[in-house]
Amino acid sequence: MDSNPNVPAADRPPSTDSTARGAFDDVLAANTAYQRTFSDPGLPGRAGKGLAVLTCMDSRIDPLGMLGLRPGDAKILRTAGARVTDDVLRSLVLAHHLLGVERVMVIAHTDCGMAKADDETVHDAIRRRTGMDSRSMDFHTIADQKRALEHDVQRVRSSPYLPSMPVVGGVYDVRTGAVLLTVT
Ligand SMILES: [Zn+2]
Repeated sequence: MDSNPNVPAADRPPSTDSTARGAFDDVLAANTAYQRTFSDPGLPGRAGKGLAVLTCMDSRIDPLGMLGLRPGDAKILRTAGARVTDDVLRSLVLAHHLLGVERVMVIAHTDCGMAKADDETVHDAIRRRTGMDSRSMDFHTIADQKRALEHDVQRVRSSPYLPSMPVVGGVYDVRTGAVLLTVT
């Protein structure tokens, strides 16, 4: 079985390594090239624009590009479906109190796989493909994207560790690049 099913084998050079590392030859080679032109801008770890952006892990989304940001400007958090989980709150509390974040955007997107299935369907799909029973996991699938976004924005707003934090929610259109705020 291919060691990394997410990258078509045809898109990668033949592996020269039988360990897990061999599955990353392409990106490690790219990093070697990256280092040649990299120059350290001396950025601090704080978010230069005081912004945190939570968005989906969808590979079509460029969180910096879609908001005119550059490295150093914002803290970027990503979860499947842009859901606000306990770990997102953990990161936001750290980002606010230690790393300069003073405002938060939660950005879902069109054509999100998390809004196309419920947890039971995902569990069934995994069981059919692998025989594994994944029901001990909660995937936080989305039945109603607008309602989920309102819920998640409110979850950040109501954190006792993030008092008076400006938080908005929006949807990124993967076909047009537009971000439409829907929870303000
Ligand atoms: Zn998504």
